Amino acid sequence: MKLSFLGAARQVTGSMYLLELEDDYRILIDCGSDMERSGPREAGSNGQATPVVTHPGLFPFEASSINLVLLTHAHMDHSGNLPNLFREGYEGQILCTEPTFALANVLLKDAASLNQKRINELNVSKKQRVKDRQVQMQKDLYLDLQVRETMENVVPIGFNRKFRVTDNVDVTFMPAGHLLGAAHILINVTENGERKSICFSGDIGRKNYPLLVDPSTVPPVDYLVCESTYGNRLHENTMSPEDALADIIQQACIDIPGRLIIPSFSVGRTQALLYTLNRLYTERGFPPIKVFSDSPMGYESTKVYMQHIKMLNGEAREFYKENESLFDFENFQFLESSKASKAVSNYGEPCIIISSSGMVQGGRVEYHVAENISNPYATILIIGYCAEGTLGWRLMNGQSTLTIKGKEHQVLANVKKIDVFSGHGDRNDLINFVQMQSPETLRSIFLVHGEYESMESFKITLAEEGYPQVIIPKKGESFEL
Ligand SMILES: [Zn+2]
Repeated sequence: MKLSFLGAARQVTGSMYLLELEDDYRILIDCGSDMERSGPREAGSNGQATPVVTHPGLFPFEASSINLVLLTHAHMDHSGNLPNLFREGYEGQILCTEPTFALANVLLKDAASLNQKRINELNVSKKQRVKDRQVQMQKDLYLDLQVRETMENVVPIGFNRKFRVTDNVDVTFMPAGHLLGAAHILINVTENGERKSICFSGDIGRKNYPLLVDPSTVPPVDYLVCESTYGNRLHENTMSPEDALADIIQQACIDIPGRLIIPSFSVGRTQALLYTLNRLYTERGFPPIKVFSDSPMGYESTKVYMQHIKMLNGEAREFYKENESLFDFENFQFLESSKASKAVSNYGEPCIIISSSGMVQGGRVEYHVAENISNPYATILIIGYCAEGTLGWRLMNGQSTLTIKGKEHQVLANVKKIDVFSGHGDRNDLINFVQMQSPETLRSIFLVHGEYESMESFKITLAEEGYPQVIIPKKGESFEL
């Protein structure tokens, strides 16, 4: 069989790998948006972006020649190009877990509605005789129809159940932590009487993450395709998410007392924050400071988490049993309309506003940051990766003035950063993942989904740990397995 690295090769986003078997059966693993190519919107390892995705030349293969798609998890850098695959003629099924199906539905619909907006804008500019290239783009944006077609072809399958795809191929999805429904995918292939196994790590989560189960143990395989986002880094904060958040709230809302703005991805991160806040109030008797969640997509994703309580970790299930709530507490309010979102500016008491996007690039949070950036009683808390050039990145760089939507603001608010809510395992977690395999029997480790620098550093680390069989594939490179 042949394995080709078509995306997330020497970069973080655009996960897409093609496995071609000798009988011509072709399996695509992930079909994500390449945000590094389409510019820094919500780019990055956490992939909850809603980029405007273009269509032609996206796939270096005939979409109709693919027999099956396997999806590790819902983040856009893994799922964001699926509607374009159907648009280009794919007619097969997508296998993923039930929560991945539901969360991908939320994310892809949101991307389609952004595309619709973009088309409307282009139609206006078309009347003004804009350049041909822009008109061309209009034809290439996927819409609700393609998202519906994608969703109609999803076959949800459970964790840890061997699913027979053909006489020669079976697949198993194993919990990866990281995001509700996220999976490591194990594929067993029998060719010419020989059985070969390959594991695609997907994104690897971390232990004891709020709500999520720990990444699971992977059985011995012949080949490992391993993400390496944090291949050269350790998480800085060693506190629990609860302690870290409690400290920040104490400083930002009680000692000062002011308002705390938390830019956050809507899918996954927002639910981890709300659950942690709920625990602080319910179990530690924290003062009931008002919490606003200002993201329609956050609302939709929270419903998906509520529909899958059985798949959350033991602590979260226990908490739900005792309190009959995970995300809903007395001092909490979802803001639905944009009118309600803007009205929060007039709220006179200390409060916490959680809003997307996580990198403060687009989304309602931009408004809250602009409103509060010159307020010395406000704190902006960055809890995730911010791509270079985004407003979140500029905030973290300590600039004294910032331009938001053409208007210059003096930065007087406090800017803080914690990494306890990062959904990715760090270098030690990645080493633990690889060490489940014996260096004697593992034939190759392919590093993907990381910046090249991080991969090179992780390759050296793995060699020191006794794994010399590490390959860093280039985009488009193929290997006979
Ligand atoms: Zn992810």
